[in-house]
Amino acid sequence: MAVIRDVMPAFDLLQPSSIADAQKLLQQHGADAWVMAGGLDSFDWLKDRIKRPKVLVDLSGIEELKGVRAASDGIEIGAMTTLTEVVNNPLVKQHYGLLAQGAELAASPQIRNQGTIGGNVTQDARCWYYRAGWPCYRASGNICYADTPEGRNREHAILHADRCVAVNPSDSAPALIALDAKFVMRTPKGERVVDAEDYFIGPEIDITRLHILQPGDLLTTIRIPSTWAGAQFYFEKVRDRNVWDFPLLNVASAMFVSNGIIERMRIAVNGVAARPLRLKSVEDAVRGKPANAATGEMAGKLAVQGAVPLQFNAYKIPLMRNLVKRAIGGVEEPTWAS
Ligand SMILES: Cc1cc2nc3c(=O)[nH]c(=O)nc-3n(C[C@H](O)[C@H](O)[C@H](O)COP(=O)(O)OP(=O)(O)OC[C@H]3O[C@@H](n4cnc5c(N)ncnc54)[C@H](O)[C@@H]3O)c2cc1C
Ligand code: SF4
Repeated sequence: MAVIRDVMPAFDLLQPSSIADAQKLLQQHGADAWVMAGGLDSFDWLKDRIKRPKVLVDLSGIEELKGVRAASDGIEIGAMTTLTEVVNNPLVKQHYGLLAQGAELAASPQIRNQGTIGGNVTQDARCWYYRAGWPCYRASGNICYADTPEGRNREHAILHADRCVAVNPSDSAPALIALDAKFVMRTPKGERVVDAEDYFIGPEIDITRLHILQPGDLLTTIRIPSTWAGAQFYFEKVRDRNVWDFPLLNVASAMFVSNGIIERMRIAVNGVAARPLRLKSVEDAVRGKPANAATGEMAGKLAVQGAVPLQFNAYKIPLMRNLVKRAIGGVEEPTWAS
């Protein structure tokens, strides 16, 4: 057997058993600390020797961060709940099936057994150059290797790019936005609660992160209110291979329809920008319209307004248009043909 001589850089492993202890450790070590949940994204970085934290704060021993609970209005999901538990939870399945659908399409069963919902929404970009340690904008360098005439950018952004054209790769994030979830964080200043869509940020705000967490912050809970419980849900993910693979694009929607008319709808897509996008203009435009192919067609066109393709990802524009159309008007035809 080969002997690996270039060992992973050493770090101190700290294993708190309460949120309060985790916070103390994070404050003590500041930017030297790395929060670890299931480790699936974290260990890629560490084993590739690209991120080199001095201290790893492992959340796996904190019981208060685990599990799905009924709340006064809806449910609460601890950030350390595995994707498998989320998918199999009866409350999630019965009332918020959209999240179960999205989470079940993430990665593989083994990864979902270990990967957590908090890690899934906080995971980093999957751009090949960045993950390989190239010194691009997102890695505090001065160039984007993907946004060049010959760059590998098939998977990259068509909307809201700003120097970096990487996309957010989460399958659970758009479902949580469509369900109007709230993300609860513990920060050094106290508890902070934000709408799911505001947890995610684009490069125009901070090019080095996909989310609002700062060193010292912890995502503790995801709250899903009952507002969209039992709605008509639609989740679709398109990926290169129908086994574990990141989304090229996904769509998640919740819709209340009465006598064929859309009363209200929330819809989000991911894989098109550095943050999952809530399509507010679509939600407004379809209210009061029939839930049919014509409304879907109109919504699809609206959704892709302003999209700018890179050299190799123009296919994402008709793909996004058609996924939005199908979310509203039902499945009628293959999606990726324009
Ligand atoms: C081969 C492979 C295929 C995959 N395919 C998909 C896919 O198709 N769809 C998809 O959605 N995902 C996919 N993933 C991503 C996978 O689901 C995530 O890596 C996983 O969900 C991350 O969760 P984790 O618990 O392992 O987090 P970790 O890897 O431990 O953490 C991820 C990041 O989040 C931070 N973090 C985690 N939890 C917290 C918290 N509570 N507070 C503050 N910061 C936190 C960590 O510091 C780290 O930066 C894939 C991953 C792999 C390795
Ligand atoms: S897309 Fe973003 S992450 Fe990828 S090379 Fe360009 S700047 Fe880096």
